Amino acid sequence: MYLKSLTLRGFKSFASSTTMRFEPGINCVVGPNGSGKSNVVDALAWVMGEQGAKNMRGGAMADVIFAGTSQKPALGRAEVSLSIDNSDGALPIDYREVTISRTLFRSGGSEYAINGTACRLLDIQELLSDTGMGKEMHVIIGQGKLDEVLTSSAEDRRGFVEEAAGLLKHRKRKEKALRKLDSMQGSLTRIEDLTVELR
Ligand code: ATP
Repeated sequence: MYLKSLTLRGFKSFASSTTMRFEPGINCVVGPNGSGKSNVVDALAWVMGEQGAKNMRGGAMADVIFAGTSQKPALGRAEVSLSIDNSDGALPIDYREVTISRTLFRSGGSEYAINGTACRLLDIQELLSDTGMGKEMHVIIGQGKLDEVLTSSAEDRRGFVEEAAGLLKHRKRKEKALRKLDSMQGSLTRIEDLTVELR
């Protein structure tokens, strides 16, 4: 499995559709200061489900949408697509190439898709979660992140290891199941109350 290409359109400084193709192995993005190298990394994190505007180096999530320049007007939406070569079947889906996409509208709506079919953020997270990729998998080591890992508490460090080991998916499922159990318990209590009233 490797990243094949990344397409940005209306994302940060990338107003027009821009596609970067990658090869297996090490790929480098080079360019002068302010040319958008970090924006490319932001796009990778974003399409994999990043939810924190701060992690996108902005104040609000809409800040990822191209804000306009003296030559080009601001745009109404940001779109990023990431194509992954899955010929080794590392992703649990029956396609040799998988494209995940995310779109955000200035009006507030957002959309996710896998191979062009609309899906939930959760589907993307689950798809990536056994591969070591994904928002909380520490595949993106930003400036200052190493310091954060080295100075974190033992508990937080355990969290990093657990996520790297792929436990995130199971933890999320457990949380979801506990929430369902909780709401079931509420319904059961309500039924018991009604039964008593009806006696
Ligand atoms: P450096 O080498 O200095 O770290 P860089 O190549 O990583 O720079 P980025 O931080 O990726 O550069 O890009 C910064 C540029 O992106 C700035 O010119 C900024 O104005 C532009 N930019 C960020 N968000 C938007 C946006 N929403 N709309 C338009 N341009 C944006």
